[in-house]
Parts: sequence; structure tokens; C-alpha cells
Amino acid sequence: MARYTGPVCKLCRREGMKLFIKGDRCFGEKCAIERRNYPPGVHGQGRTKFSEYGNQLREKQKVKRMYGVLESQFHRYFREAERIKGITGENLLILLERRLDNMVYRLGFANSRSEARQLVRHNHFLINGKKMNIPSFLTKTDDSIQLKEKSRKIERILDSLETVARRGIPSWLEYEKSSFTGTIKALPVREELTMPISENLIVELYSK
Ligand code: SF4
Repeated sequence: MARYTGPVCKLCRREGMKLFIKGDRCFGEKCAIERRNYPPGVHGQGRTKFSEYGNQLREKQKVKRMYGVLESQFHRYFREAERIKGITGENLLILLERRLDNMVYRLGFANSRSEARQLVRHNHFLINGKKMNIPSFLTKTDDSIQLKEKSRKIERILDSLETVARRGIPSWLEYEKSSFTGTIKALPVREELTMPISENLIVELYSK
């Protein structure tokens, strides 16, 4: 499946906020947002005022980049969010949260969503006891995400599990250390998603 392979810190600088794409580095002083918090390019420190359309576009790009999703797939999530009962913007965020790579990241098996995506691809997890290597797989309430036994000695996974405390495991997930298993107690509600996102701007953009 296609994915963005360019420089990722530029994406954060473009959006003017940390998107936590690089794992460990995002928490240190080498983070590009700490050092150069202005858009990349020769005009980066120039004009920063956006039109209404510009604001809507930036919000969509920000969320896409945060979850590591490309345009066509993001658009499909939006259409699906429209079909689900409830508020479209909130449905969209919850659909993105349900992705397996995001759950792996949230549970602390990886330091970033891109690392989580790679771990899923490399077959390190069982979902409800069955093999699953599709990062976009949509999890649901009561699903269990377990690290395979043969993967429990991989240093980078153990390191991530050690350091997850600095961002915390969300309350809608439960993690059992002894069995390396996470369980989805419930899908999140909007108030529990604390990232600074104005999803209504994305709805306005796609509704044009
Ligand atoms: Fe973004 Fe992380 Fe790079 Fe900082 S280090 S700019 S948060 S990807």
C-alpha cells in the first residue's frame, strides 16, 4: 500500500505543531518544532494568514498526516463517517482511532504510528488470537491485540513499552503486562481525543 516517504519533520513544521511521527525524537530537543517552528521553504517565515479554504485544507492535511493516511483513503474514511449515525467529524476521528496501527501505537508497542504500521506489517500481532497484518484493519470494542510470543524479546518493542508512560495509555484501552495484551474496553468518545483538531473544518471542506 502506498505511503508518504518524504521528510516527516517538514510536515509538522507545515502544520505548526508536533504530529509525533518520529517516535523518540519527538520528545527531545532535536524535534524540529522545538528548533524551527515555522513552515519549511524560503517563504516559511513570511505570510502565515490563511483564507477560509486554506484553514480547512490545513486541518485536513494535519489529521491525515497525524494518522499517516493518504488522500484517497482519508476521503473514504470521510464518506464512511457520513454514513454512520451521529456527527460526521467525530465519526471520522473515531474511525481513524480504530485503525490497528493506531491501536498498537496507543497501547505503547511502538513509539509512533509509522513504527506501529511496520510492526503490524511484519506480523507481530494477533487480533482475538488470529494473525492480522493489515495496518488499516478496523478494530472494535472487546477486541484484543496481543504481541506474539516470538516477538516479546524484540528490543525496540520493549523500549516502547517502557517509555509509553510519558504519553500514557488512553482510558478506553486496557493493557495487561503479563500477557502483552491490550483490550479495547470501548471506542473513544470525542472528549477523550485530546489532540487539537477542529474536525468541523474538514467536514466543511469536503461538503463543498
Ligand atoms: Fe514532528 Fe517528531 Fe519531527 Fe518533532 S521530531 S518535528 S514532532 S516528527
